[in-house]
Amino acid sequence: QRKPIVAGNWKMNGSVELVSEIGSAINECKNEQVDIIIFPPAPLLLKVVEFGISVGTQTVSEFNSGAFTGELSAELAKQLGATHTLVGHSERRIIFGESNESVADKFAKAQENGLIPILCVGETEQQRDAQETEMVVAEQINAVISKLGIAALLNSVLAYEPVWAIGTGKTATPEQAQAVHKFIRDMLSKQSEHVGDTLQILYGGSVNDKNSKSLFIQPDIDGGLIGGASLKADAFVSICNSAL
Ligand code: 13P
Repeated sequence: QRKPIVAGNWKMNGSVELVSEIGSAINECKNEQVDIIIFPPAPLLLKVVEFGISVGTQTVSEFNSGAFTGELSAELAKQLGATHTLVGHSERRIIFGESNESVADKFAKAQENGLIPILCVGETEQQRDAQETEMVVAEQINAVISKLGIAALLNSVLAYEPVWAIGTGKTATPEQAQAVHKFIRDMLSKQSEHVGDTLQILYGGSVNDKNSKSLFIQPDIDGGLIGGASLKADAFVSICNSAL
């Protein structure tokens, strides 16, 4: 009943040429049963829109506008045709020092401007080894709920991306990923059954065209957030098809 999403996070990669290559490939494989969204570097936003493909930003500012050199406004992203934005990607949290609180502010700003936030959560290897996965993920999600209320999650998407699986080729096994997705869904269901039932939860971290199917068939995994493999047209198309 939850429609699968396959999202391609290009991070700071790609080019005008790659938009054409991947844009054409996606337009050939588009299917009503899966939502495909590209998150290119912001300067490429309009190029993706020109292909008629859903597009989002990789982050947004928690501020409306003003003297914030280099920041990305949710309002302008929306004006240019973005439908979604990632918030709290682990690279933003770790490299750029975003806290749970600032991620919650960005989530709010996205929704205020009509963008659907994809809230990214996940533990580091050290936290997993210390059995802190559930605590860390719960704290990351609860920061949003305590600011905005559980109902805010209705108009959002979640992405579970274990940090140790990102860009490492070390994918979580389908069982490991499913266990965390189920933990998240059960935790949310306790507060709102409707949110628990309907919220799409994506898995991200070294997803490729070989392992995507086994992840996507898990009962609580509703698609994927793809990094490296979203930069290769063939691999990305076959990942999209595996979500059908
Ligand atoms: P990789 O697929 O390259 O591991 O990246 C995952 C990711 O961070 C997507 O947001």
